[in-house]
Amino acid sequence: MVGANFNPVLLIGIVYAITISIVSAYLWASGRFSARVRYLLLIITIILGFATFSPMIPHQFQTIIERLADGERIGIILFSGVIGLGILTLLAALFGRHFCGYLCPIGAVQEAAYTIPTKKIPVQQKGILIAIRAFFLVAIIGGAFLFGIELLDYFGFSDFFKLTLSAGTPVFIVILLISILIYRPFCRIICPVGAILQAGAFPAIYKIRRTDACIECRKCEKTCPTNEVKAEDSKSECYLCRRCIEICPEDGALVYRRKKV
Ligand code: SF4
Ligand code: SF4
Repeated sequence: MVGANFNPVLLIGIVYAITISIVSAYLWASGRFSARVRYLLLIITIILGFATFSPMIPHQFQTIIERLADGERIGIILFSGVIGLGILTLLAALFGRHFCGYLCPIGAVQEAAYTIPTKKIPVQQKGILIAIRAFFLVAIIGGAFLFGIELLDYFGFSDFFKLTLSAGTPVFIVILLISILIYRPFCRIICPVGAILQAGAFPAIYKIRRTDACIECRKCEKTCPTNEVKAEDSKSECYLCRRCIEICPEDGALVYRRKKV
């Protein structure tokens, strides 16, 4: 049962994602996470993604749903997929979405595309985007169980990272081109794992918080690509991109920490 589905590469990828999520949270909480660390992690994740060592959790999510829909036993993939996703959701509930921030190759390539300097199109209606993504989550599960459709395969991200040309590969390339102008369209509109981790991160204990040093200049609000930096925002759609912190003119006005009791 275990041997048929055993994929050591996938297991290594999950261990990488979980370990670095914890290290990243520690670096953020201790004030040692910098723009340089972020870029380094993005580059490593993208390289590992092409080498298939970085976990393509949305793809594994689709696989698990397919196998459950087919009534197959899922063996070790139960650990590497369901348990892995469960641990990442728990980490999101503790520390926010470090995995989405720079450990998912799909998110990392979109993040890299958005750093290309050009005029951006702000899409900040996060409630609508979250609702569409929840619809996709239901459609992916319903499509697999009711019609045997593997909806996520049409988005081609897995083939893109395998450097394989399929009907879906151009779709992901178009998504990447859109990512130059609009922040993370796949993550914010389509990704079922994003939907799960967003729900997990909603009550996150550690998140970016404003302090009394804030002078209400609102520069961070104009910069945040996901409309998540206001004091009252949950930060569940925060991808820890640091743009708010980097634009803030006041030292210590935005800090990553747990709520003061
Ligand atoms: S939202 Fe999905 S695609 Fe985006 S970084 Fe998170 S898991 Fe990856
Ligand atoms: S700008 Fe700040 S609040 Fe907005 S997504 Fe980036 S890190 Fe999160």
